Amino acid sequence: MEIDKIDEFVRKKGFFWQSSEIYGGLAGFYDYGNNGTLLKRKFENVWRKYFLGLNENFVEIEPSNIMHKNVFAASGHLNNFVDPVAKCSKCGTQHRADHILEDFLKENFEGLTIEELKELIKKYNIKCPNCKGEFKEFYVLNMMFSINIGEKDKNAFMRPETAQGAFTNFMRQYNILRNRLPMGLAIIGKVFRNEISPRNLITRTREFTQAELQIFFDFEEIENISSWDEIKDYKIILNENKKNIEITCNNLVSNMKIPKFYVYYMSKIQKFYLDILKIPKEKFRFRKLSNEEKAFYNKIHFDIELDLLSLGGFKEVGGIHYRTDYDLKNHEKLSGKSQKVFLSDKKKKIIPHVIELSFGVDRNIYSLIEIFHKKDGERIFLNLPSPIVPFEIAVFPLVNKSGLDIEARKIFENLSGKFDAVFDHSGSIGKMYYREDERGTLYCITIDYGTKETGKVTLRDRNTKKQIFVKIEFLESILRNLLDGKIKFEEIGKIIK
Ligand SMILES: [Zn+2]
Repeated sequence: MEIDKIDEFVRKKGFFWQSSEIYGGLAGFYDYGNNGTLLKRKFENVWRKYFLGLNENFVEIEPSNIMHKNVFAASGHLNNFVDPVAKCSKCGTQHRADHILEDFLKENFEGLTIEELKELIKKYNIKCPNCKGEFKEFYVLNMMFSINIGEKDKNAFMRPETAQGAFTNFMRQYNILRNRLPMGLAIIGKVFRNEISPRNLITRTREFTQAELQIFFDFEEIENISSWDEIKDYKIILNENKKNIEITCNNLVSNMKIPKFYVYYMSKIQKFYLDILKIPKEKFRFRKLSNEEKAFYNKIHFDIELDLLSLGGFKEVGGIHYRTDYDLKNHEKLSGKSQKVFLSDKKKKIIPHVIELSFGVDRNIYSLIEIFHKKDGERIFLNLPSPIVPFEIAVFPLVNKSGLDIEARKIFENLSGKFDAVFDHSGSIGKMYYREDERGTLYCITIDYGTKETGKVTLRDRNTKKQIFVKIEFLESILRNLLDGKIKFEEIGKIIK
């Protein structure tokens, strides 16, 4: 689907649109509507449950969005977190130098130095896409938003990644959790980056949500995973030499020399996408970043990529980063507070190493909408998997009279505490069905003229539009079994012709 079509769909159907719209909009900022907010919350909850469930010593914390300048002096963001800019000499607009090249040559140029980018732009004689003017000025801009606290205290920044909140709280949390490694600190929250050229709806914005898990571990244990046997033959999907291949976890370790600790979490991430989010296998892959592409502090960096037709192919939606002891070491140096822990069983003091599992929540939401957007003639339905649908069920009366509405509301009230349910009575039955299809509601329940006599309602399946009569007294258990995947829709009863 084209990006314009997605834009129209998500705006009209209550998912997301540009912020401050009534004043002409603010580039790079987005508001989520009612359906988008529900979908995002569901994604975050599923993420939380899955990744915190990997280890009883993984917990969630919520650090503040604004942090001390020194946090980013230590992390390197103050000096190194920059965008390469090419400025048009005619119209004066600033462009991301690597994006200018990417649009022209259809290749990824992220990570090149400003000098290298300048050279290439000159070599291919690329002109300003706005006015065909020449690019003459090339420089870098820091991407952090600085802010004033009170009147003039400038020692603060909006955080450009959630990760630093995990590092600055490491020692306190280590003590609170009774000094055990590995320890995981998860953060789901907003981050802020002053992008030169925000674009592609919510996939590159100036304010976005990250879901990250920092896993602190003893470097000496990097090849020692107790449950390795569980995943050793599991096949990881990898982009190698511009082809997608499948390679077992064992072979990733022996052939590509990736540590077991790292590969273990790659397998968990892949299972999250394929088994929980139900992303088709051919649309998922990991891609190893080259030395030029990856951040200088990452020793190993694979991106998580999904195939997005609207954006021209596989795009990054997250990553798994071996940050070593880079962050804690630098915080120790600048703060003067020791980040060393004593491992009593090994009688040694170490600064833990860190593997970071990082996800762009908004990019994932965009991907889910694109990948699961299906057309069935004129009908559009979001084929979302049940754990992330905004609503599991919808209840409505066939018509809004003859007591059907009262009966329908009674059934809704009985189910609404047990399921994510919505009630509607605002139009023809066909329109109500379509509205639910468009936001992915799994099952619609309709109360009609016969309900009072037969005690039956109509249950309709989102994907197939098939309908079956169900007795009200069995409705709850049938829905529970359907949602848990214990029965198939066709097994409930006779399909209504
Ligand atoms: Zn221009």
